[in-house]
Amino acid sequence: MHFLVVDDSSTMRRIVCNTLGSIGYFEVTEAEDGVDALKKMKETQFDAIMTDWNMPRMNGLELVKTARSMEAYKHTPIIMITTEGGKREVITAIKEGVNNYIIKPFTPHILKEKLKDII
Ligand SMILES: [Mg+2]
Repeated sequence: MHFLVVDDSSTMRRIVCNTLGSIGYFEVTEAEDGVDALKKMKETQFDAIMTDWNMPRMNGLELVKTARSMEAYKHTPIIMITTEGGKREVITAIKEGVNNYIIKPFTPHILKEKLKDII
């Protein structure tokens, strides 16, 4: 199971990667924004994507929209990671094809439960 973790904060990427590792997922690639993510998605077929909403160049919503327009990523599980204040935005993101969302800060247990729902 190869994950793509997309966030403009390297600290947040490290937290997400460590959390994935703590529940047994060690194959993880990082991207710093939507543009970087799309570049990597064209090179590698990822099995699941965890993305932040607010990022420079291309945000999480634009990334989701673009992914859903690509044959290779039409049905790939995507989780949006957001802050409490981003809840409303997540509703929009779900309409665009996000499978689930996680509110920061989150525990390994929460991540595991959210993944269980979509994988
Ligand atoms: Mg951000």
